[in-house]
Amino acid sequence: EQWLRKRIQKAVEYRENFLKMSQYTNSYRLIHSEGDGIPGLIVDRYGEYLVLQFSCLALERLSNILVDELAKIPGIRGIIRKDDPIMARMEGMECQYTTLHGESIPEEFILEEYGLKYKVRFRKAQKTGFYLDQRENRQLILKYAQNGVERVLDAFCYTGGFSITMAKHLGSIREILAIDSSEEALKLLEENAQLNQCPPVIRPLQGNVFAHLDQLWGEGYIFDLAVVDPPKFIPNRRSFERGFHGYKKLNRYVFRLIRPGGLVLTCSCSQMMDDHHFVRMLAEAAGEAGREAVILEKRYQPPDHPVNLACPEGGYLKAYLLKIY
Ligand code: SAH
Repeated sequence: EQWLRKRIQKAVEYRENFLKMSQYTNSYRLIHSEGDGIPGLIVDRYGEYLVLQFSCLALERLSNILVDELAKIPGIRGIIRKDDPIMARMEGMECQYTTLHGESIPEEFILEEYGLKYKVRFRKAQKTGFYLDQRENRQLILKYAQNGVERVLDAFCYTGGFSITMAKHLGSIREILAIDSSEEALKLLEENAQLNQCPPVIRPLQGNVFAHLDQLWGEGYIFDLAVVDPPKFIPNRRSFERGFHGYKKLNRYVFRLIRPGGLVLTCSCSQMMDDHHFVRMLAEAAGEAGREAVILEKRYQPPDHPVNLACPEGGYLKAYLLKIY
């Protein structure tokens, strides 16, 4: 018990005093499983609330200790548990959405990140509520897209993390096509655009990204910049081949829509897609699209999602910024 309590205290201390997360955002990952020496536990902080997700039955059994320690963090009003249904099934846990301590989390929460606001509705949300892991990559785009970017694609946009950042900060943009299969997410994206008083450049498109990209190609669409942030195509070893080809097809579809000299931020959140395979996949995709591409930057998850060297799979997110010729 003492061991567990200490690890939690260290994780909290690291975010508060070393990373000083609250300078950038009110929401961040407080405990990242192996990366914080507590395999099987994820805790995300959303303002005064904590959202717990268990990926291991053993940790779930220790829930009382964990919650007791987490509740000591100054300013915490409520702790909820929001399980991932697939993980819960694999571990033989009941998939729960419940309050474990204090107040229940509000149905709607305003997340703040680098001065922008995003509504989160936890109950129906993906992950614990928001893709906190793309925080720094949203800023990366701003660094490279200053000069005359007009037509933008945000494929797999969710509630608009990238779209809102770009619409708000890149004045040259005329249109952002924001595609997602989730109606719920797109509704929030539109609310987020209003909340941040974005110029009216975001065009949400509901449906399958693959189908839309194929159609856009047929219509002769060309983009200056694309963000491609798909869900995990490789959830386990068995699905590696299929997932690899999924990524390749997706990137081929994107590359052929980019003007020569345009930019693509292409991501993968599959643990098993390591750097080596990711580069190979991208090279094959570019070749098949008849394009050349260079890597400008390789980015990963931010330091509130640390990776333990003894468990490199904890480093799941890759985000490469490419220039396409
Ligand atoms: N870029 C987002 C996170 C994307 S997560 C952000 O910064 O917040 C992946 C998204 O892909 C989810 O919103 C999910 O609804 C969507 N999605 C999954 N499969 C899809 C498909 N085939 N076509 C379109 N969207 C899909």
